[in-house]
Amino acid sequence: QSSAAFADSAIKFGENLKMGDTMNFILKKKLRMWCQVPDVGWQLGNVQSLFGQHAKILLADGKVHAMCVESLLPANPDILNGVDDLIKLSYLNEPSVLHALKCRHADDMIYTKAGPILVAVNPFKTVELYGNGLVEAYKHKNTDAPHVYAVAESAFSGMMKDEINQSIIISGESGAGKTETAKIAMQYLAVQGGGNGIEDKVLHTNPILEAFGNAKTLKNHNSSRFSKLIEIHFSSTGRISGAKIQAFLLEKSRVVHRAKGERSYHIFYQLCAGAPPPFKDKFNLKAANEYTYLNQSDCLSVSDVDDAQRFHTLMEALNTVQIRKEDIENAFAMLTAVLWLGNVKFQVVNSENHVQVIPDEGVESAAKLMGCTVHELMLALSTRTIQAGNDSIVSKLTLQQAMDTRDALAKTIYASLFDWIVEQINVSLEAGKCQNGGCISILDIYGFESFQNNSFEQLCINYANERLQQHFNRHLFKLEQEEYRQDGIDWSNIDFIDNMECLNLFEKQPLGLFSLLNEESNFPKATDLTLAAKLQQHLSSNTCFKGEINGAFRVRHYAGEVLYNTLGFLEKNRDPLYLDSVELLKSCSCQLLHLFASHILNQPQKLSGPQWLNGAYSQKHSLGLKFKVQLFRLMQHLENTTPHFITCIKPNNEQLPGMFENASVLEQLKCYGIPEVVRMSRSGYPTRITHQQFAERFGFLLLDVIDFQDPLSVAIAILQQFNVAPEMYQVGYTKLFFRTGQIAALEIARKNS
Ligand code: ATP
Ligand code: MG
Repeated sequence: QSSAAFADSAIKFGENLKMGDTMNFILKKKLRMWCQVPDVGWQLGNVQSLFGQHAKILLADGKVHAMCVESLLPANPDILNGVDDLIKLSYLNEPSVLHALKCRHADDMIYTKAGPILVAVNPFKTVELYGNGLVEAYKHKNTDAPHVYAVAESAFSGMMKDEINQSIIISGESGAGKTETAKIAMQYLAVQGGGNGIEDKVLHTNPILEAFGNAKTLKNHNSSRFSKLIEIHFSSTGRISGAKIQAFLLEKSRVVHRAKGERSYHIFYQLCAGAPPPFKDKFNLKAANEYTYLNQSDCLSVSDVDDAQRFHTLMEALNTVQIRKEDIENAFAMLTAVLWLGNVKFQVVNSENHVQVIPDEGVESAAKLMGCTVHELMLALSTRTIQAGNDSIVSKLTLQQAMDTRDALAKTIYASLFDWIVEQINVSLEAGKCQNGGCISILDIYGFESFQNNSFEQLCINYANERLQQHFNRHLFKLEQEEYRQDGIDWSNIDFIDNMECLNLFEKQPLGLFSLLNEESNFPKATDLTLAAKLQQHLSSNTCFKGEINGAFRVRHYAGEVLYNTLGFLEKNRDPLYLDSVELLKSCSCQLLHLFASHILNQPQKLSGPQWLNGAYSQKHSLGLKFKVQLFRLMQHLENTTPHFITCIKPNNEQLPGMFENASVLEQLKCYGIPEVVRMSRSGYPTRITHQQFAERFGFLLLDVIDFQDPLSVAIAILQQFNVAPEMYQVGYTKLFFRTGQIAALEIARKNS
């Protein structure tokens, strides 16, 4: 459903060659062409004859088509089929790039470079591309085929050699393979920096985080519903010494509601299927289909996944990461409490639609697990206490309010539990952390989202992607071009989409989207419509914003325009938890709940005043602002690292092997700016070295004595001696700039002498 939104963001693939001349040459020579056949798409064909602006083309299927020359593009010779770096293509048009990736995908070569970026096309099947043998090959630099291992190796050696922290930033849409790619990178680093057992702990964080933070969605049977940064710390000798995980923006609404055909978090089903009978008896745990929170979306299992077996894998992982048995049992009891909360039902008791809780197994089991009395839980779920001066007024809840209160409580327990698990993992992984070593961070973040109906969650996710895109642009375009300019070399700028305007829309203070949203969330009387009006009033001057009718608005993101519906925005942003619920959690004998309540209460805000809106513990820093702060911290962290980018591509929406859908792949390539990156790398000078360093490194290779001994003269003499063609390098004020691969011969000569 995202196709339409992406379409208008189309960036034309550029060509450095003078297209007119090239086309004439190709047409005359009757070389192979790409022909855009109506209703079929790009096909390879040979020009048979030319008449004016038309050509007769013999297609591969033997049919002859008459076509306008405008629907033809030059094709690369066969020898370039399957090149491992898109910058090596002679013609860089859309069909050629797609063809290159498709050929490689068909041969299970799922990794291809696009200049400095690694493109990974999801195979949706097991491919023979991994294992210790290959890790060794990359470690010893015996191969340079594009691979996640190569990226991880480059990060590792960068960290060791330059003593700069590194980051591997993985992007792609849901199901594209980000999480798998992150795991592959971690596996590489575990072998490269392993040996003391900590790597085992680090790797075992994956099944834990996936159990608690991943779920089956319509797009991916193992979709991460949070974004993750894992910092892997190394000692000064390159051994893994610890790790730290940061998780953001867990989709907690999934616990209580989701689309048909999707599941809640894996952990619930794993627990129901795999928990040992004594545990089930002790906590009154039933099968998944008995719980409303699990059975409401008509999907209880995932094909080819055995939840009971996954539960055992999870237990092993929890064991390896050394989470205490007692803590694990408490956590599982809380999960069971969440499930029972979902079964709590209400009955309407008067004409005002007020309710009371039906005293059945649901509320009894939940209360027992939480460590409160049934009466206390029933009260917290069906009444609300409002402070009025020194008095507190208790009012009954309507059915909708009661259900919302119950769901808010379940979501809070789950989200707190998730944060707590991450914290336990961090405590365990921090143990051996070295103070003076380096670190490699791997970022696996939600991709850009554009659906028919987009809400607050999409707004946050897309904002995060705008920030990341800015980071990407800065590194790949701005800094690069600035360096050329500063050194005075001849360089025509490549246009790229600068998304500053869109970032301003979100971040400006006091009149940016998040500030306005926060302000409106603090008005008790505000509604989604007053919010929409406020946004319209203050943001219309920003060219990335357009107000629409019925409380909707559009944002022009770098990856396409997205229509957001403000319905539910305020509530989601306020993320309210009711005072009675917090008080209840605080009074529970279950220690975890007590801890969660203290965390909530200790957040930096006062407990009186306007935050307590109608008994709701409305947080002063709303979810949107909190997210913005988290993201800023993340970006700050990334700014201090040398980035390595991996873009994952989903070749089809059916999650099937051997299927490559051109249109969708093209959209994704454009969305992640691949065409411009390739264009820039191809016409750029990726290798750069100061005159001085060059002369020092290669000066001894000079065979003749030269008149001038200054570094630049020495350098030029060496380049002439090695016949490096003048168009392959440029001389800057302080540095020499080379096109890809130009100093390889010099390095070999240096090594052999
Ligand atoms: P989301 O944003 O929904 O979390 P994602 O980008 O993290 O999606 P993954 O969960 O990593 O996507 O991948 C989806 C599925 O694709 C995997 O479960 C696996 O079946 C398949 N897959 C991804 N990468 C590979 C790979 N390198 N080899 C084999 N299968 C893969
Ligand atoms: Mg994922």
